[in-house]
This record gives sequence, structure tokens and C-alpha cells, in this order.
Amino acid sequence: MNRVHIVGAGLAGLAAGVRLTVAGYPVTLYESNGHAGGRCRSFHDSVLDCMIDNGNHLLLSGNCSARTFLREIGAEDTMSGPSEADFPFIDLKTGDRWSVRLNSGAFPWWLLSRERRPPDTSILDFLSMLRLAWAGPDATVTDILKYDDAVFTRFAEPLAIAALNTPLNTAAARPLWNVLRETFGRGGAACRPLIARDGLSRSFVDPALGVLRRFGAGIWFNQRLRDLDISNSVVRNLRFGNMSIEVAPTEKVVFALPPIGLNAVMPEISVPTGSHAIVNAHFKLPTPISGMQGKSLLGVVGGIAEWVFIRGSILSVTVSAADELAKKSAAEIGVLIWSDVARALDLPKNPPQFRIVKERRATFAQTPSAMRCRPGTKTQNKNLFSAGDWTDTGLPATIESAIRSGHNAAAAIIAS
Ligand SMILES: Cc1cc2nc3c(=O)[nH]c(=O)nc-3n(C[C@H](O)[C@H](O)[C@H](O)COP(=O)(O)OP(=O)(O)OC[C@H]3O[C@@H](n4cnc5c(N)ncnc54)[C@H](O)[C@@H]3O)c2cc1C
Repeated sequence: MNRVHIVGAGLAGLAAGVRLTVAGYPVTLYESNGHAGGRCRSFHDSVLDCMIDNGNHLLLSGNCSARTFLREIGAEDTMSGPSEADFPFIDLKTGDRWSVRLNSGAFPWWLLSRERRPPDTSILDFLSMLRLAWAGPDATVTDILKYDDAVFTRFAEPLAIAALNTPLNTAAARPLWNVLRETFGRGGAACRPLIARDGLSRSFVDPALGVLRRFGAGIWFNQRLRDLDISNSVVRNLRFGNMSIEVAPTEKVVFALPPIGLNAVMPEISVPTGSHAIVNAHFKLPTPISGMQGKSLLGVVGGIAEWVFIRGSILSVTVSAADELAKKSAAEIGVLIWSDVARALDLPKNPPQFRIVKERRATFAQTPSAMRCRPGTKTQNKNLFSAGDWTDTGLPATIESAIRSGHNAAAAIIAS
């Protein structure tokens, strides 16, 4: 079979590479950084002296492409989460605490139970979210959902902002519906929250590289694609920092790059231009805490903190669409976020040691106009395919979208 050259070793590139290499294709992977994983990786932090993730990443059990990938690389058992779809929350303004607890079957009888819904919400409020199914291409989330009622502030907003990483008055409604349909729409069994127990790299990256190496794939780090030659709609040559790769006419190329990476080498392709930040605060707890009652996830509304994750002695907090917060100093952010955490979990006022990670371009700004610039898998060049969370999967820019795009590229190559 003919070689496939994959540029970009984030989850999209890794997913395409694993599929193709297992299917018998010779694969070569090129990555500009010295490591794989892109926006989904772990690193050793010298301040906390432990491995941390660049950001908390939450999967849902209904993320079927991501879970298939984990199975393919033998890492499904590295994800942990509750046996039921259970999302505990606190409202810092009122002190109310509640859990959204779905029943596992597809018929949503959990909506009938007051104890399983946020306070002050009714079943009709939830049913009104079905209007998202008919959202037009120009509709934003707040065009469709009433944004001043409890079902919005206590359920839809925290989920939607985490999924879309875009202020909801500018975020496209359609991808939100697609993700709800694949998870909440299939019942609690598809909505169990899952986190990488030992860190993102141990779940998603290291095992994928292991499979690629076992099957003899070439993996080149520190190779930034700078330029390429195309003639007669066929990619002929890829030029990296210090090497030039001839692409035979029968060989295929996958660009699994972020929008600005693709735009730098192919300015003629229109890509979404804006992006939004995600800020993560990682705190090293001196002693284990009991405030989360054995749960590893807590949704916070009415403050700056949005989602709190606990893994061993590291308590991490995520804030999405955090462009304004990211402008503050790390010291300020740590104190601000800890003040929410201390109130939510009844902890001492002074923060323990912390590390702030600002991912300024965490995802593209997922507005209706950006949705129109998402390219498909096939390009106008016969041997070139595109992948990446921002390509046209219909989903928000998430792990599920990245992996699905990689699988789509692999399927298109196998089919061709
Ligand atoms: C802080 C944070 C929190 C997140 N939380 C969640 C979450 O809770 N749940 C969820 O599902 N998703 C989450 N995401 C989104 C998720 O991380 C991404 O959707 C996914 O990792 C994107 O993968 P990708 O392969 O499409 O892109 P990338 O990870 O960006 O991979 C692209 C790769 O291409 C490389 N590259 C770029 N230019 C070149 C070049 N010229 N030559 C060679 N290589 C190049 C890059 O170095 C990178 O490794 C989060 C993202 C961030 C940043």
C-alpha cells in the first residue's frame, strides 16, 4: 500500500495514523513540537513538581469516536468516572447544591424527578431546549435558549460554555444540538463523565505512539511544515525545517493542523480566524479533601470557576471562553479562582501552591460564520485530506471532533 504522510500529531493526526497503520498503510507522522498530543497533553510542572495536564479534559461516555480510539490503542481502562451520569453542582450566589442525575435508559424519566433536576426548574424548561434541534445556521445559543431562567444558568450554560468555549451570545447553536443529541439524547448511559485517570498523555498520546511505533510508523518531531509544492492538484513535495519530502503521486497527505497552521502553508484556503482562551488553575492540596464526597467533578455557577476536577492531590479548575481572565497575571487568577473553590468546598482561604495554564487559542471561536469556514475531509487536491477538531464534523471543537475528523480522513484514504 502507498505511504500516508500525516502532518500534525495532535489527536486528529494520531487517530488517523493509528487507523491507517493498523489497516496496513505505511505511515509517517511529522510534528512541529518536540512532543505529540497538541492541545491535549500532560507535562511535568516544576512548581508543583508533578505531571499536570495542559487543561482538564472531560469526555462523556457517548463520545463514541473517542472511546473507539481509546479501545484501539488499548487505553480504555485509563479513563475513570462514576458508574452513573451524575453531575454535582453548587451555586456560589445562593449556596444551593444539587446533582443532575440522568437515568441510564434513553427515555428521560429523570426529568420527572425534582431531586434529579436543578432547583427551580421544571420538565417544561428542559423540553424547551428541544428548540435547539431546529436552530438555523445563523442562530446563536442565546437566540434559541432563554438566558435568564434557572434551566439556563444551572444546566445549559455550564454545559454549553464547556462544549463550545465561546460566549453563548455569539456561539453557534447547531453544534451544541449535535453534541446533546449524541450524549444527553441517548440517556444516562451516554452521559457518564470520564476523565483521564493518570493524565491525558497516558490515556490518549503515549499508547497511540506505542501502536504507531509497533506497526513501524515513522515519527518525526521538531519538524514544522513550512511550505509545499502542488501541481495538477496533487501534493508533490513537503518542506519542513530541515528536510524536504518527495510525495509520490500515489501517496496521500493528511494535514491535521490547527486553522492558523493550515493557513500558514495554504493561505488560499479560508479558515475560521478567531479563537477563545481556556484558563486552567492547578492547585496542589496539602491534604486530601472530603468536600466532593468521593466525586471527581463539580460544576460551579455564580463565580469565576466553572468546573472543578480532583485527581489525587491535584485540584484543577477550568474556565472556558476566558479571554478576559487570561489577561490577568497568574498570581491574580490563582487567588480569584481559589476564593471560589474555598467557598464551594469549605477550604481555608489561602490558596495552596498553584500553577496557572493559559491556553490562549484553546479552540476556534465557534460562531455561526466560523461554521461556514470548516473544511471537509477531502480537499480540491486529489491526494490531500484535512483533519482537526475545527474541520467540518458538525461537532464543537472537542476531543470527539478531533478524533472523528482523523477517522474520517483515514476512511476517505482507505476508500480511495
Ligand atoms: C485547555 C483546554 C481544555 C480543553 N478541554 C476539553 C474538554 O474538556 N473536552 C474535550 O473534548 N475537548 C477539550 N479541549 C479541546 C481538545 O483539546 C481539542 O479539541 C483537541 O485536542 C484538538 O486536537 P487536534 O488534533 O484537532 O488539534 P491540535 O491538538 O492543535 O493538534 C495539531 C498539531 O499540529 C501541530 N502543528 C501545528 N502546525 C504545524 C506545522 N506547520 N507543522 C507540523 N505540525 C504542526 C501542533 O503542534 C499540534 O501538535 C480542550 C482544549 C484545551 C486547550
